[in-house]
Amino acid sequence: MKGRLLDRLADAARQLTLPLAGAPPAPPVLRAGHRVIRLAGSFVEYELRRSARRTIGFAIDERGLTVTAPRGVGQAQIDAALAARADWVLRKMQEWRERAQRNARLAVRWEHGGTLPYLGESLLIRIEHGRRAAPRRDGAELWIALAGNVTSAQVRESAQGWLKAQARTLFAERLGHYGATHGIVPRRWALSSARTRWGSCSADGSIRLNWRLVHLPPDVVDYVICHELAHLREMNHGPRFWSEVARLYPDYQHARRRLRAHPGGLAMSQE
Ligand SMILES: [Zn+2]
Repeated sequence: MKGRLLDRLADAARQLTLPLAGAPPAPPVLRAGHRVIRLAGSFVEYELRRSARRTIGFAIDERGLTVTAPRGVGQAQIDAALAARADWVLRKMQEWRERAQRNARLAVRWEHGGTLPYLGESLLIRIEHGRRAAPRRDGAELWIALAGNVTSAQVRESAQGWLKAQARTLFAERLGHYGATHGIVPRRWALSSARTRWGSCSADGSIRLNWRLVHLPPDVVDYVICHELAHLREMNHGPRFWSEVARLYPDYQHARRRLRAHPGGLAMSQE
């Protein structure tokens, strides 16, 4: 009960910190070394760097647009060069904005009221204060009991421990299901925490599955598991491998597209 009361107080405190609606937008403040140009009706801020190069160069990344110009080149030439590449500049900047928005959507706030993607659904993080206990799921809520001053690192550690335990149980069950149905049994398997791989299979017959797959929908998890099981028959990505995948998981193309479209998986691949 005490925990619920504290949660309500925390909710009330959060509401008080909401920004006031109707406040006038602050005028843009240019950082040192930054300039602004109007391209196709949009104001575009950029950082101007001088260098010994002979031509004007452009680069766009998560920090925005950087223009590198030779020392003797004046503002009019820089403006003209930017105007000539306006379509490219605006398109690239839009791509980076969308990427940043996708990452922000995916980033979990490890606190009371944060949401966690779980098997294609979303779990609401609820913190119970006062005593430390294993997290438990109650419908669409994940209850995490922690003692003392609760930090987001503690919440993350506790929730990820729970996610890994769910992954271990679910993956074992799915490996057993597909293995028994198709007569393919890995010599051993383990959870991995790889940053760049959803799964892998080695020549000695062992399979590794990334625990973060529990964030994705169940059909995508099944596809990754079948992909790795198929490697126990075909250690390559040739046509015979893909027909083996289709035998294990007929709708694999749909699941494979969903895996590739997963925003957190841009840098992830599968072996
Ligand atoms: Zn593969």
